[in-house]
Amino acid sequence: MSVSVAIDGPAGAGKSTIAKLLAAKMNYIYVDTGAMYRAMAVYFSQNQVNPEDEEAVNAAVENVNITIEYIDGVQQVILNGENVTHLLRTEETGKMASKTSKYAAVRSKLVDLQRKLAKTADVIMDGRDIGTTVLPDAFVKIYLTASSSARAKRRYDELMENGEKCSLSEIKADIESRDYADMHREISPLRKADDAVLVDTSDMNIEEVVAAITQIIEEKQK
Ligand code: C5P
Repeated sequence: MSVSVAIDGPAGAGKSTIAKLLAAKMNYIYVDTGAMYRAMAVYFSQNQVNPEDEEAVNAAVENVNITIEYIDGVQQVILNGENVTHLLRTEETGKMASKTSKYAAVRSKLVDLQRKLAKTADVIMDGRDIGTTVLPDAFVKIYLTASSSARAKRRYDELMENGEKCSLSEIKADIESRDYADMHREISPLRKADDAVLVDTSDMNIEEVVAAITQIIEEKQK
């Protein structure tokens, strides 16, 4: 039987960085579920679907086929036959994903895909609802969080490093509004599963977080 590790938490907590490193270390497959919501968002943007119009979103979801492939261990998202991985990380796509991830039609299609992936391989899956909804029987559940100031500062440093102009206060406001939307939606809101271990990374570096989670997993394996 395949083994799964669920990592949930708010935007910018470092889930994908940590999950990637852990997956490489443990020889698990890393599944980035945010990328799937982003691929849906690419379809909505490309087809001028109004994210406030649930009926239009529902109709559009019928035309979306998302599959996952791995190239050199890196997840690729295929949208209706086209690899859209390079389009996923923009601010526009992130905003569209955040607005449309609340709809049942979007979530049920992607949750089905996520569960299928977890059946076929040992996975480390990150997202918002993995421990609560997608894989309620995951072997280990982690709720990774950090203060909104710490998360905004990390994002700010990353953008500055890439030479993008940005404002720390705007980034913080955006992170807080995404947190609010994820935590207050009706279906599968972001929350810590009762049996998840809380890891607050506000004052930790990447190596410390990886070491802490490795220890949690090893404890569980005893
Ligand atoms: O994690 P990432 O920023 O790539 O996710 C994009 C959006 O997808 C989030 O803002 C969130 O609303 C949504 N999402 C979700 N459930 C997941 C993963 C992401 O609702 N499991």
